Amino acid sequence: MPEFCDVALPVPLHMVLTYRVPEEAIAVVGSRVIVPFRRQRLPGVITELHDRAPKVKTKTVLQVLDETPALSEELLWLGKWISDYYLAPIGEVFRSMLPLNAEFRRAIVYRISEEGRMALHLAGSGGSSLRSHKNPEEQDIEYRALNYLAMRDEVREGTLRSATGIPPQLLAGMIRKKWIEREDASHVTDAARTRKVAVLLNRPSSGGCPLKADGGSLDGRGRPPLHDQVNVAAGVKAPEAPLQSRLNANQRLILGALTTAGGKLELKTLRELDVPRSTLATLVRGGFVELINESVPFSKSTVTPRGLGKGMEFHSAQQAALDRIRVLVDAKKFAGILLHGVTGSGKTAVYLAAMKSVLDAGRTAILLVPEIGLTPAVAADVHEIFGDEVAILHSGLSDKERAEQWHRIRRGEARAIVGTRSAVFAPVSNLALIIIDEEQDSSYKQEETPRYHARDVAVMRAKVSDAVVVLGSATPSLESYFNAKKHRYALVEMPDRVEKRPLPVVEVIDMRQEFQETGNEQVISRKVMEEIRLRLERKEQAMVLLNRRGYSPVVLCRTCGKKLECSNCAIALTHHKSRRRMECHYCGFMSPVPKHCASCGSEYVYFLGTGSEKLEELLHGYFPQARIARLDRDTVRSHADFERVLNALNAGELDLLVGTQMIAKGHDIHGVTLVGVVGADMALGLPDFRAAERTFQLLTQVAGRAGRGEIPGKVLLQTYFPDHYSVQYAAHHDFAGFYEKELRFRSWMHYPPYSSLANVMVRSTKLDETLRWSGVLGRWFERNRHEGVRVLGPAAAPIERLKRDYRYHFILKSPSRQKLNTVLRAMLVEAEKEKIPRTNVIVDVDALWLM
Ligand SMILES: [Zn+2]
Ligand SMILES: [Zn+2]
Repeated sequence: MPEFCDVALPVPLHMVLTYRVPEEAIAVVGSRVIVPFRRQRLPGVITELHDRAPKVKTKTVLQVLDETPALSEELLWLGKWISDYYLAPIGEVFRSMLPLNAEFRRAIVYRISEEGRMALHLAGSGGSSLRSHKNPEEQDIEYRALNYLAMRDEVREGTLRSATGIPPQLLAGMIRKKWIEREDASHVTDAARTRKVAVLLNRPSSGGCPLKADGGSLDGRGRPPLHDQVNVAAGVKAPEAPLQSRLNANQRLILGALTTAGGKLELKTLRELDVPRSTLATLVRGGFVELINESVPFSKSTVTPRGLGKGMEFHSAQQAALDRIRVLVDAKKFAGILLHGVTGSGKTAVYLAAMKSVLDAGRTAILLVPEIGLTPAVAADVHEIFGDEVAILHSGLSDKERAEQWHRIRRGEARAIVGTRSAVFAPVSNLALIIIDEEQDSSYKQEETPRYHARDVAVMRAKVSDAVVVLGSATPSLESYFNAKKHRYALVEMPDRVEKRPLPVVEVIDMRQEFQETGNEQVISRKVMEEIRLRLERKEQAMVLLNRRGYSPVVLCRTCGKKLECSNCAIALTHHKSRRRMECHYCGFMSPVPKHCASCGSEYVYFLGTGSEKLEELLHGYFPQARIARLDRDTVRSHADFERVLNALNAGELDLLVGTQMIAKGHDIHGVTLVGVVGADMALGLPDFRAAERTFQLLTQVAGRAGRGEIPGKVLLQTYFPDHYSVQYAAHHDFAGFYEKELRFRSWMHYPPYSSLANVMVRSTKLDETLRWSGVLGRWFERNRHEGVRVLGPAAAPIERLKRDYRYHFILKSPSRQKLNTVLRAMLVEAEKEKIPRTNVIVDVDALWLM
């Protein structure tokens, strides 16, 4: 065994640290370890084993957690690539790749020292240092804490604080006085992998089943097959018949609950029965019940599958796309495909069929879906097709559930992985296919360290695994479309909807003209009103999109002109009427609804503009008979809410659905024949070079919700920019036209895909620090002119203050990614030299947002 190992720790350091491998430990590259770091214990990942003794004193690894690598060679390579490409600290990259937080328990313990015992002793016998404390109340607490510790070996911080009521500053003081010692006792638990389950044992029937007396029946249904063996193995003697008659009420309650549940219940559930813990222990000793550790099962969707897996007839373009994927997968070499299919062309069915053939061949497939795209319908479909071989990973999972899914995948029990962004790191082996649905979706970009883009990571993972990567979309990103045009990916088109259904007719409504004709600013145009009325009459369904949540987005004082802003961000607060408060959509700050202006005291406070909450209210007013629901982040808190609304729409229990972009993504509701867009071009006013692309994508996506059933659909786009090319091309379903125009613009402006881009953000809660640091870096960029790299800035970020931080930024552009990253690396070295903390300089490579 090599003597040393290099460990990547989840700290903002661009380096690994060397530790000594404990004797007799089995450590491998890719195993997780617990190591001492400063005054803490931290989990890390071994990146190398070697015998090169470092010059400084080396600490020893405290614990090796895995005897087989937690990160395979392939994933280690991928992590290093991410660290390099996105300039992210390697340990932080590995941490996001391993969703095993649930297995690492943070724990701080305290012990009493000799000095502490002495102080306690003296206090007991009168006038001591403890007694001379200036604050008698604090003195009492200290005495209590010492007393508590003196009777115990070591006590966890939480226990000590709740038992003695000692506040942190007194604890710190006692450490300074050396009365107590503090130690980081963080450790690993395997609790995350399993749950404790009570199982009813199949009792010999000679004396009659104990539950017969209760009128229950016990036929052993639903019990795991192991019981008898376990019973024998554990040498449990079958209890004598008379014992059964001696069962008390509590014991019967437990056995009854177990029988009703089919013989098995989670311990957690049994404890809700309000029966003393000893009762269960008695039943276990008596051989009635056994406690086992079981893998945590995962909840399944309650939505009816759409039957996408059931040998459905493919139209020719679907079949051609599927054949193309299969041929490339069989070649077992890297290949990329851009699958460009119009909305409603049946892309999901192709993905699932391709995954099915991969699984049939004994290999593994990953399907990445956008945060909002992991709909219950998708989950239901994949469960129907892949059964227990699927693992679904989404942001709604607890740490424990996530860890369990990770272990299932690693054990090879799940070979069809469906999940959001981080599922790209699923620990699969024999990977054949990665599919990225709606590859342009911004939820694939992680907006915190490490700031990776899951689509681009998926492409690299496919490369290192000799797998095939499929990027699917109705509105591919400029970058991916460009790559396909340059033949880096094969371009596969699906230009028609299933069953030759027509794409919806799109009509653009000029809101400037509407204003001239009606003389006032309407939220909903006359045309949209009329068409909704028509749909309601015909018992068809309609959707109305307004991509802004809340009631009013701006509150303004008419006397002094001040807007009500968040106290942490340079952002206007949004009025949420039903919650009766103002909210910041960036940091969550809340405040009461103002009656007076905070600056001048004036009563003339005006609520301006319309959000989805107000739109819903307006529609209720216009169409009191209609059944209306709203879908946005205020009404949808969980996947279950989402599921409920979509089910209701699907079942025809709703007439109108109002919402933000949440209603635009991927839902396949057949009754919707009208889509009204009352505000989707607001993004065009933002200072962001991707604004046109985003608007085009959103308009196309939402238009795609119309006419997916028998009746053709209609889309009405209300806009103040009727001539803008993104509106015009979306209205004509002209993808190629939009891409060509947008690519020309990007080329002139040296924006991606013609250039690599990075956003460097300098932030601090103190404005003078932000100014000083951005000045330091600005002068460094000036002094070191880097050939082939353009640097813009420093400039105040479009959102100057966010979550208490003042923000200044630089934008770097270069046709050479290598040159760009070289400059960024050198800049980080300079920042360190200038003592600018690493966490105050954010480097965002391939940034999606420059705000
Ligand atoms: Zn005012
Ligand atoms: Zn805020």
